[in-house]
Amino acid sequence: EVGRRLQALFGDAHILARLGGDEFVIALGDLSQALAVERIVQALERAQTAIAGRPILIDGNDLSLTACVGVAIYPDDGQQVAELLKAADTALTHAKRNGRNGYQFHTQGMNDHVLETLWVDRDLRRALEENQFVLYYQPKIDLVNGRITGAEALIRWQHPTRGLVMPGQFIRVAEERGLIVALGDWVMREACRQNKAWQEAGMAELPIAINLSAQHFRLSTLLRDVKRTLQDHALGADCLELELTESSIMQDAVATIATMRRLTEVGVVLALDDFGTGYSSLSQLKGLPLANLKLDQSFVRGLPDDHDDLAICTAVIAMGQALGLKVIAEGVETPEQLAALRTLGCDVGQGYLFARPLPAAQFMEFVQR
Ligand code: C2E
Ligand code: CA
Ligand code: CA
Repeated sequence: EVGRRLQALFGDAHILARLGGDEFVIALGDLSQALAVERIVQALERAQTAIAGRPILIDGNDLSLTACVGVAIYPDDGQQVAELLKAADTALTHAKRNGRNGYQFHTQGMNDHVLETLWVDRDLRRALEENQFVLYYQPKIDLVNGRITGAEALIRWQHPTRGLVMPGQFIRVAEERGLIVALGDWVMREACRQNKAWQEAGMAELPIAINLSAQHFRLSTLLRDVKRTLQDHALGADCLELELTESSIMQDAVATIATMRRLTEVGVVLALDDFGTGYSSLSQLKGLPLANLKLDQSFVRGLPDDHDDLAICTAVIAMGQALGLKVIAEGVETPEQLAALRTLGCDVGQGYLFARPLPAAQFMEFVQR
């Protein structure tokens, strides 16, 4: 079907080749202008949508196929076939970054940016197979009594040659490459395993929060996986907290909220991360089965002097508490910020002032100090 449609589009004079995996090359001859290429790419997109645009229901999940296109033009982007292919591949990486069903022409300067992150694409799958990830744990502190109320697990990648890589450098790529659910599953298992190990070592029982991406929350299998993971580690549901962002709820609100409800019924704690950076309205927030609200660190940063930040923090804390939620301030770095948050009646704080994210052994020392 695809071959037939392509032939209708391009005729016999051009080459269609599979590069392995999910990548194809279409070599078009005699196209003098970029505009002509653009029209063809758009026609290709329409054909792609006609063939694969309908979602397919598998295991209760809607799966849909998407295609991205990177374009390189001879001789501007390369004189040799290898050069042209590389330029097209670079453009393709950009197209993928920009979202589904996009196309992108190769431009000079693209290389620098892509080269910087190309290794992530290349190494990530292997990293999962070879278990190169590790969780760090950052304590959350009760602002009234100073006690540790829990921790947030934050992923790091121990890259064999690049050292410790921060999540900002690879989470987005993992999402784009369909690896984020596997990664999230690993994070959930590892956090539960570690939590159990701490408990067995005599540490006080604490809820450990993990960050789950929007894609993960939309999965109908999430509830089952959470239950199974807790069971496998003989952990109570109140030992696991899931942090999700506003935007991840809004992407598919109906499915996500249904999943959230079922998770809270099981006893898992849900927190809304980065609150204030998205666009959810108060009325939407009201209907969500949340226990905790995390006030984004961008607002905490300006405390106590920035009037706007102070106004936002005041409002969020009051509103969150009025809705029966615990408010957790993120990114608390200075005693002045802490004092302001205390004055505003904020419940919990997290930030470098108390502790940086710590390896598991150091976290236990911190708790027991
Ligand atoms: P986040 O969930 O908002 O996590 C808080 C980030 O703030 C962490 O960055 C943490 O190290 C940093 N932080 C904590 N205290 C302070 C402070 O006092 N000042 C400042 N400036 N920063 C502070 P990190 O570990 O680099 O993580 C970045 C983001 O990556 C996280 O933001 C989260 O969105 C994502 N992430 C981390 N781990 C995971 C994971 O396991 N799965 C997924 N899907 N995302 C993750
Ligand atoms: Ca978080
Ligand atoms: Ca956050």
